[in-house]
Amino acid sequence: AERLVAPQEQPADREGEGLRPQRLSDYIGQRKVKDNLSVFIQAASARGEALDHVLLYGPPGLGKTTLANIIAAEMGVSVRTTSGPAIERPGDLAAILTALEPRDVLFIDEIHRLSSATEEILYSAMEDGCLDIVIGKGPSARSIRLSLPPFTLVGATTRAGQLTSPLRDRFGVISRLEFYEVEDLKEIILRTAGILHLRITDDGAEEIARRSRGTPRIGNRLLKRVRDFALVWEDGSVTQRIAREALNRLDVDPEGLDQIDQKALKTIILTFAGGPVGLDTLAATIGEEPVTLEDVVEPFLLQMGFLQRTPRGRMATARAYQHLGYSLPQSRMD
Ligand code: ADP
Repeated sequence: AERLVAPQEQPADREGEGLRPQRLSDYIGQRKVKDNLSVFIQAASARGEALDHVLLYGPPGLGKTTLANIIAAEMGVSVRTTSGPAIERPGDLAAILTALEPRDVLFIDEIHRLSSATEEILYSAMEDGCLDIVIGKGPSARSIRLSLPPFTLVGATTRAGQLTSPLRDRFGVISRLEFYEVEDLKEIILRTAGILHLRITDDGAEEIARRSRGTPRIGNRLLKRVRDFALVWEDGSVTQRIAREALNRLDVDPEGLDQIDQKALKTIILTFAGGPVGLDTLAATIGEEPVTLEDVVEPFLLQMGFLQRTPRGRMATARAYQHLGYSLPQSRMD
């Protein structure tokens, strides 16, 4: 079964496309990113130019795709969406680039997964607005230079560190999306409930927000599951009590940890005496892939202060002991 609290998109999330905010003013939270982008968009519009290339990075489900679409809407242009793994050959990218209208947005999700040959095409496209393509093979091959309409590349990646530096250096705007505060998530959940015509109490929304791992995609998903329980158990209203009971039953604890998170923390505490333990060892012990652990499980546990990264490995914090109901070993009381 798919993890209820996985931040990556799942097929059932897609029916919620109507939940995406369309304009910057509907985009809740991420104030710093939003305020800066708003200035850059207004300035580029005033000059009649394409917006500078934008790199958005941060964990999945925080609103990178949404923001790319909003940028296009605010600029009054179209957006063409693709992803690193979807562009197989440099020619595929060339075809996409030459089909853009002036000032259009090209959104490349998972941009760190472009092949290096494709990435190189992108350098001159981003920097000089041109494409160098080789026509023919062998001795008769020649290279021609095509000029492109001005465009804005919006790239998204989960970790900026995965990007090569020549690519990273070609972005004029680099914005990091942060996990959302409970207050912002609550607002997002209330907004979604409104779109879905759900009755929800303020504390019901807050209960779901607190368990959403700082991630709007998870918040919307949890809301939809709680909605089912509310309908079957009672009159369909999402209250705090229903949200609590439903999410407990779905193994999402009051801080948003699920069984995999708990297993990771318990393993560090019980099997490795609180750590430090290396990522690969921990992954093997709990039967997860190291990348899943590093990209999906860890960022939230770190953010919540349940986990600490040290040069010698991962350690469970005092807060993790407390949350899971274990007493801190004597050796760590100081
Ligand atoms: P990412 O591309 O970072 O994985 P998405 O842009 O697909 O994330 O966002 C996931 C879902 O969360 C979207 O469908 C949208 O409904 C919701 N969402 C994301 N950010 C916001 C926000 N700031 N305000 C309201 N809803 C949001």
